[in-house]
Amino acid sequence: MSGGWAAKEFCEQGFNTLLIERGRNVEHIKDYPTTNMLPWEFKFRGDAPAKVREENPIAASCYAFGEDSLHFFVKDNEHPYIQTKPFQWIRGYQVGGKSIMWARQVQRWSNMDFEGPARDGFAVDWPIRYKDLDPWYTYVEKFVGVSGNKDGLAILPDGDFLKPFGTNCVEDYFSDQMKKYYKNRHVIYGRCAHLTESKPIYVEQGRGLCASRNICHRGCPFGGYFNANSTLIPWAMKTGNLTLKTDSVVHSIIYDKDLKKAIGVRVIDTHTKSTIEYFAKVIFLNASTLNTNLILLNSTSDRFPKGLGNDSGLLGKYIAFHNYRGVITATHEGHKDRRVDGQKPTSAYIPRFRNVYRQETEFLRGYAAGFGASKEMDYDTSSIGEDLYNNLLKVKESDVWSVNSHMMGETLPKESNHVSLDENLLDPWGIPQLKVDVDYDENDEKMLQDFFDEFSEMYTKAGFTDIKTSDNQRKPGNDIHEMGGVRMGHDPKTSLLNKWNQMHHCKNVFVTDGACMTSTSTQNPSLTFMALTARAANHAIEEMKKGNI
Ligand SMILES: Cc1cc2nc3c(=O)[nH]c(=O)nc-3n(C[C@H](O)[C@H](O)[C@H](O)COP(=O)(O)OP(=O)(O)OC[C@H]3O[C@@H](n4cnc5c(N)ncnc54)[C@H](O)[C@@H]3O)c2cc1C
Repeated sequence: MSGGWAAKEFCEQGFNTLLIERGRNVEHIKDYPTTNMLPWEFKFRGDAPAKVREENPIAASCYAFGEDSLHFFVKDNEHPYIQTKPFQWIRGYQVGGKSIMWARQVQRWSNMDFEGPARDGFAVDWPIRYKDLDPWYTYVEKFVGVSGNKDGLAILPDGDFLKPFGTNCVEDYFSDQMKKYYKNRHVIYGRCAHLTESKPIYVEQGRGLCASRNICHRGCPFGGYFNANSTLIPWAMKTGNLTLKTDSVVHSIIYDKDLKKAIGVRVIDTHTKSTIEYFAKVIFLNASTLNTNLILLNSTSDRFPKGLGNDSGLLGKYIAFHNYRGVITATHEGHKDRRVDGQKPTSAYIPRFRNVYRQETEFLRGYAAGFGASKEMDYDTSSIGEDLYNNLLKVKESDVWSVNSHMMGETLPKESNHVSLDENLLDPWGIPQLKVDVDYDENDEKMLQDFFDEFSEMYTKAGFTDIKTSDNQRKPGNDIHEMGGVRMGHDPKTSLLNKWNQMHHCKNVFVTDGACMTSTSTQNPSLTFMALTARAANHAIEEMKKGNI
């Protein structure tokens, strides 16, 4: 998702660009084999077979892993890594990466997020603020297509939105109740990367409107949601400046100590296992957080014996993620005469409200949450034809609404949460295996309890009944929002990248995926990765034109 942005920017501005991908090509529409299949056409009705689940406990722990999508997920035994502590590393190794299977939630960061580490005294200060990214969020949103409401909230800035699908009556009811009882708790429409309006830019991309099929993880033949395959990659290809090299695993970056810069990459061909070198003036590293860490750690030379740009010794450290362990469910006895008509590809979103304007809890930072309301219908299907149709429209008093929320907690980047290379074990391409040593801490446990307490109170105030909280015990990584290890900062002694995502000690290498993140905030992060990438690519282009890199 982020690498596609770098490719698009360079290609559009006339640079010969090589996009290197370890996996196979996935062409829009042609390579979505299940996209138009109906439930009864799947041998296992859409569920991944038990044997596949048993053989792939990591991949199968992802909610989107099913019979209809398993071809897009990395299989556990094909790409081994070492879990020093349990870490569910969910990966998609193909052109388009995880942008094919993602859940398309896109919320901007606010200044409160960029100021967080400096204000609350953890990690290091971000070298940028919201104003630096604001125009790039807009730039990305206009190309991607984001459906949302203008909510006017300081904690979650508005963007350049297409019209929303809307919220349902119980989601609206909960929103009204929260306004009544709290000053700063908002239940809003979850902004999502779906086309709800046609505009010339989307027609030019060849994309159509989202039809709310809600099977996006199979790939969408209309291009109704954003993935790199239907947008960035064909867009870059159309310029004639893109060369796409698939089945090529980047092993390491080649550094020239005389020129004092990186000159290219070493790549292993996945079929022949032979090593090939490619040379370039500028390198963008977008292998997704942990693989980007791995490549840099593996890029050793006389000048950088601990990994490229790693004079500080901090490469691979301060990994953080999102705590998705908290879940709350309840029943809503009201709105008995109402039902949900049709479906939508997003639900309601509750931006962070804890520790926003002042430190009010024993833990640092806070959490956002999703909110969804649905009605389980007890349909009368005893007839056929018009009678069946009319029966399906009937709303029964006995049908009740279910509501639920899941927590999206910020974890604090810590030196002890780190990745490193194993000294003995290699992967099938002869590259050292990654060791992941990442875990929750006391701050996360306190935050989880606070989510249970606060949401139980909010649900009670809204009149919901049968309230149940649960800790789903998800392992780190299962949130699929791993970040850090190559963090941005002002000071080369405490960070790896400057404010342009440029390595402090190797100026023609840029890291713009999640590895660059100094802290994680609560929002789904990919929109920020994309905005950072577009900004950094345009900076790199200016610097190249000036002859600075
Ligand atoms: C089920 C699911 C739901 C999600 N929902 C959301 C959401 O709602 N909102 C959100 O913001 N995010 C979401 N995410 C996360 C989102 O997909 C990622 O943040 C995003 O894709 C990261 O972009 P990226 O470019 O860093 O990595 P990717 O999209 O994973 O792309 C990395 C690419 O690099 C390639 N690669 C890796 N190593 C090498 C190597 N050594 N050599 C060559 N190529 C290599 C990979 O094959 C891949 O194609 C979700 C993810 C999943 C799986």
